[in-house]
Amino acid sequence: MAEKISANQFKAFGLELDGISKRTMDEHYVLYQGYVNKTNEIREKLEAVNLTTANQAFSDVRALAVELSFALGGVKSHELYFANLGGKGGKPTGRVLEVIERDFTSFEAWQAQLKAFGIAGRGWAWLAYDNFDGKLHNYIGDAQNSYPVWDAIPVLGLDVYEHAYYLDFGTKRAAYIDVFFRNIDWEDVARRLTEAEKAAAARKG
Ligand code: FE
Repeated sequence: MAEKISANQFKAFGLELDGISKRTMDEHYVLYQGYVNKTNEIREKLEAVNLTTANQAFSDVRALAVELSFALGGVKSHELYFANLGGKGGKPTGRVLEVIERDFTSFEAWQAQLKAFGIAGRGWAWLAYDNFDGKLHNYIGDAQNSYPVWDAIPVLGLDVYEHAYYLDFGTKRAAYIDVFFRNIDWEDVARRLTEAEKAAAARKG
């Protein structure tokens, strides 16, 4: 039996965010809960599906496997995004700043690229520690299951689906992204980066 997952709590929901309304966050949480429920539903159905009918044009197993990547990707990306919010934003300090400056030349260059990726993406942009080269990279997503790069660990997730900002900003996505930067909890990002770097070091032995 596939183990059921459940929705988690995030500190950002108990805080007043700067420019992102409580209504937006609450509606967003409902969408996240939907991804949790669908992940459980799909996993349960996968246990019973007839594997011998697998077909790439259409088959039940294909539909379930593809939509699992969307539902579970939705869970993971929202858990990252929600946990990243609720901080003071601005410029990070310490290791995060050091690594961003190492890998993007400057904080401003990194920020400009992530913002552009967020405008160019249809659903997501991420900052991730990529085990391939041990560096931070920005990556783009049209959806949570389109374009994630394997063996890279996202440390910051930027949701750019309309539901993340339409209530507060209408179609002004760039203004929302500016506000997103003001709410980043850099301590959360730092924890994730430290874990990723530790794991990478352990792998090297
Ligand atoms: Fe979302």
